[in-house]
This record gives sequence, structure tokens and C-alpha cells, in this order.
Amino acid sequence: MAIRPTARTDVNRSAVLAQLGAQGPASRADLARTLGVSPALMTQLTKDLLSDGLIVELEHSPSQGGRPARMLGLAASGGRAIGVKVVADHVAFVEVGLDGEVLRSASEPFDATATTLLADLASLLERFIAGGSGTRLLGIGVGVPGAVDRQGNGVVDSTQLGWNQVPVGETLRRALNLPVIVENNVNALAMAERLYGVGRRHDSFLVVTIGTGVGAGIVVDGVVLRGSSGGAGEIGHTPVVEDGPLCTCGNTGCLEALIGETALVRAGRERGVIGATAGIAALRAAADAGDPAAASIFSEAGHLLGRTLAGIVQALDPELVILLGEGTAAWPHWAFGFEPSFRASLLPLRRGIGVAVESWQDESWAQGAAALVLATPFDSEGVAGDQGRLVRERLVGGGGA
Ligand SMILES: [Zn+2]
Repeated sequence: MAIRPTARTDVNRSAVLAQLGAQGPASRADLARTLGVSPALMTQLTKDLLSDGLIVELEHSPSQGGRPARMLGLAASGGRAIGVKVVADHVAFVEVGLDGEVLRSASEPFDATATTLLADLASLLERFIAGGSGTRLLGIGVGVPGAVDRQGNGVVDSTQLGWNQVPVGETLRRALNLPVIVENNVNALAMAERLYGVGRRHDSFLVVTIGTGVGAGIVVDGVVLRGSSGGAGEIGHTPVVEDGPLCTCGNTGCLEALIGETALVRAGRERGVIGATAGIAALRAAADAGDPAAASIFSEAGHLLGRTLAGIVQALDPELVILLGEGTAAWPHWAFGFEPSFRASLLPLRRGIGVAVESWQDESWAQGAAALVLATPFDSEGVAGDQGRLVRERLVGGGGA
């Protein structure tokens, strides 16, 4: 049976690689069962992946009574990608393998407001690339706190970075001569969840991040919703209270201006919970130590997040909410306010929706950016445009770095 490289097949190729990367070696029968495709289609998919050098046949699995099955695993040399997280004062890099595992990482100071910011970013990236080795560097994924016109174009607007129509993608492509994919950092995390995380088992879910900013990645039917201009998911700018504190976007009373890290630290200082120069870590430590005033700052934030998120869940009807970001370190304190207000604000039928709080590492944002590249060769929607085609060519052609 000949299977054309249709959209559906591309998605399955991606799913097979993601499954092997996240769950380890598996037999064809296991893969077919887990991913819900026919054994015949799985045989064809794995044949193609083997001939492309992306997966390898391993030893036989321990017999479970019947004939032992041949196990398949990711080819270590299948490919690697670099992910970059850009924030106002530094950039973080990771290099990941085809299975999403971090091979190495680095962090460098960076001034997002410098007139030379694009040249600076390019030379920092050049230096990081030069420190690596191995074949098949598939491309660079860049995650930014802002709106990106198209992944394969990469023009960025960001209130957080003070960027207006900054041509990140084009500049880096020209400087590095590599495929470059740029995306909002929360959308990039949502992509990583879809490939390697809880999102693998759900077609529609929300990734909500709390920390310096508050944002959401919206996945509907397996696809990250970008909106008409790449700005979907900016839940941090949901208007919550009249005449509230000023937000970075210029409006007042946005959710982010009320529950973002800056707002929590300010509340901690104003209420005398922490000193005038102390930060979020001190506030969290106070709450952990049982200070009721510190704990209530987090639980009030949780209460507001719960009400706002309930409205968003009602509008989008996801299967699951995944909470991520630096702010989740204090989640037990947030949850005290979040759980009751979130559940009570939902329509009765939606009240049982799952909320998964995932552990957070410093390199998670950059890992999300790298997932943009790893997802692209199998991107049947063409979201990454020409850059996706170039990554695919590098993967199949086995080109070096
Ligand atoms: Zn705002």
C-alpha cells in the first residue's frame, strides 16, 4: 500500500518521533496502539523514518508471552536544534536533540533596548553555535515575549522589550545562514507541550504561564492558535478592574498588572512583608515560612487568576489547563485562592476540568523555542512557511551544521 506524504502522515511522523523521544523505545504495535493508527500505517511510517535515519532498530523487547517485538528508538544523530529565549536583559540558549533533551545550555547578558540589538543577538548566537558539535543542526528557534507576524518571517512587536516591528527572523537568517523560526514564547511552550509533554494526549488545551508576565498558548485540535496577527493568547492584558495599576501595555487594571511578579513584589513591600529592595524569592520564602500576609498576596493573585481563567476556559472549552512559568514555584500559595474561585466561576459542566501544574526549569523557555524547529519538519499546517521547508530539507538531506 503506497502512502502519500499527506498532512495526516506528516503529523504521524511527528507523533512517532515525539512518542519515542518522550517515552523511550517502543515496538511498532505499541506505537500503533498509543497513537491510534493502524498497524499497516505504522509499519509504513517507521519504514520511512528508518530510511531517513531518524529512528533505529534496537534489541528485542523482553517477551511478554508471545513473540518478542523489535524495539524502535530515536537515532541520536537524527538532528539537533538550538532554542533561544530573549528577555529584556539577557538571552538563554539551549541545544537539544531530536528527542527534545537538552544537550547544553548558556546564558548571556543582552540589552534589548540597544540600537545594535540585532547584531548583538546574531553574534551571541554565532558564539553559541560555534561551541557545539555534531551534524544536522536543523535550525534556530527564537522565543520572544510579544507578537510575531508569522513564524517563518519573524517580525516582532513587544511591549515588554520595547520592540516595534523588529525584523528578528530576517536578520538572523542572513547572519547565520540557517533556518530561523520566531514565535511568541508561550506559543513555543505550547508547541513543546504538544510534542513532548502532557499535551501529547490532548488535542485541545491551554498552556498558562505566570511569572514576570501572564500569558497563554491556545491549542485547538492539535494546532497552536495564533490569531489574525500572531497575538492570540495575551490573557495578561484582560481588563480586570477599573482604574487599576498601570500596565506595560499602557492600559490600567490588566490581569498582568495585578498578578505579575512586579505587582506581587510591590504588594509585599507596601504591606511591609518584605524589605524595600527584596524580590519575589523573599516573598515566597516568607509565605513558605508561614507568614499569613505573604501567603495572602499569592492567594489573592490566585483568586484573580481563577476568575479570569474561568472565563477563558468557558470561551475555548479546552480539555485541560497546563500551568507553567517561574511563578509556579509559589503555586501552593496561589492555589489556595485559585481553586475555589476558578471552580466556582466555571459553568457546572466544566467544573471538573483538569489543571496540571508542571515543574519549571530555567531552560524551559529556551527548550520551548527549540521545539519550534523540532516540530517544523512535520508541520503539516505550513505554519513555519519556507523556513519549515528548509528545516525539512536539512533533516532528510542529512546536511551538517
Ligand atoms: Zn496590559
